[in-house]
Amino acid sequence: MSKQFLRYQAKPKITRVLKFGGSCLKDSSSIHQAALIVKEQKERVAVVVSAVQGVTDLLLDAYHRALEQGKNYQGTLHYLRQKHLIIASELLALKRFGLASEKLSGFFADLDRLLKGINLVGETSPSLKARVLSYGERLSASLMSFVLEEIGLKSRVYESDRIGLIVDRPGDEVSVNLEKFDRNFPSISKEIEGGSFIPVFTGYFGCAENGQVALFGRNGSDYSAAIIARGLKAEVLITYKDVNGFLTADPALIPQAKLIPVLSRDEAAELSYFGAKVLHPKIWDPISDRKITLEIRNYEQPKISGTIITLKSVRSEKIIKSFSINRNISVLRIEGPGVGYKPGIIGLIGSKLSEKDVNILSVLTSQTCINLILTKTSAEKAYQILIELKEPTFKKLTLEHNLALIACVGAGLRETPGVAEKIFSVLAREKINLEFFSSGASEVAIYLIVKNQDALKSIQILHRAYFEVERLERTEKPNKEASDDNFVV
Ligand code: ASP
Ligand code: MG
Repeated sequence: MSKQFLRYQAKPKITRVLKFGGSCLKDSSSIHQAALIVKEQKERVAVVVSAVQGVTDLLLDAYHRALEQGKNYQGTLHYLRQKHLIIASELLALKRFGLASEKLSGFFADLDRLLKGINLVGETSPSLKARVLSYGERLSASLMSFVLEEIGLKSRVYESDRIGLIVDRPGDEVSVNLEKFDRNFPSISKEIEGGSFIPVFTGYFGCAENGQVALFGRNGSDYSAAIIARGLKAEVLITYKDVNGFLTADPALIPQAKLIPVLSRDEAAELSYFGAKVLHPKIWDPISDRKITLEIRNYEQPKISGTIITLKSVRSEKIIKSFSINRNISVLRIEGPGVGYKPGIIGLIGSKLSEKDVNILSVLTSQTCINLILTKTSAEKAYQILIELKEPTFKKLTLEHNLALIACVGAGLRETPGVAEKIFSVLAREKINLEFFSSGASEVAIYLIVKNQDALKSIQILHRAYFEVERLERTEKPNKEASDDNFVV
């Protein structure tokens, strides 16, 4: 019996949830690496997995092919089957490979039946589609569990449509009803706590009250991991990625971007909401009333600390910690002499748009004008909804496309004089016109809206001014450390 196993028997409480995204589950060597990370933990952990990289896209492809009756989905399915079996054969000894192959083949037989049905009838439903897409995680969780067993750990798979992750409606982009989850999950956590195995949970999906599968949106396994961490009352949630953590800007745009060692939840939420793809924006909801520390680590260098996300607000010397950008922004302008003072107008707009699942990113108002900041598709939808509303206060509705929103994020920017001035002057020096500017709405973010054609340049010069040029004060104060030390506010 391994030492690890004995340790688990002595201390069965799970303190950490480890989430592995698709980018850490690419092939047999990365999956093996993920399993070793689990083995090296000093405490008992739970694991949440995404599908093997690229698998959800391929399932989507098979689904669309099945639906377009003339097309052949079998080829995609065959490829997926081979892909999983090859990984299993490379990581498992013969006997265990036999078991794994049986299990995985069972999943493929289910998938084949589902797709055949869709293909024959030529019809589908949101829950059928969700069920097809959920197989990516069912396959990877099963694979991970076999690999953990292979390296000497006991393990058990929990498919997330069977453990009380109840959603309010079937389909995609849904959220878990946390009240119901809190009632349902204790029986599962009791079972887990009574054992000494590593539970492996499927990410990405839950189910409606009637058991129909529902998805949390693309890359939704971060959200699943936060729910599991809540359910198990874990202290730490580590999400492993193929990057080190949050950076001062998107490295695809700014190669000089640097790692941010510590962020507060609010700061990380602003960044993930506005385009940093490191964490899914829904991850905060299930842990908002829990003291769980979140960590992002690079699975290839698991011992090196990435970004730690704490509850406390942490102020850096430069105040701004990162710039994130969304280049798919539109503004819907609602004009009318009464919009500013008529009570309930914003509430009306908000409720009409949320009824149709239109997400407003931000709102800027004056007495005669309300500007809704949205993504382009949401803006077009919102425009139609508001036109159809025929509200007499709305005199004119205009849509402006091709804009970009830059979120300048950092704790303390509201109380620190001069932050906005510095941003303005950096942009003005390069003659970049600010279309909109919003400050004060959040403790930790300033939003700038510029024309899309100016977006890249704006972020480059802001990043340079903040993170690539040594500040004057540094040379004036030689004793001051040149490091990016953070201090708690
Ligand atoms: N497998 C799903 C996707 O690719 C969910 C996830 O990766 O978190 O979107
Ligand atoms: Mg994925």
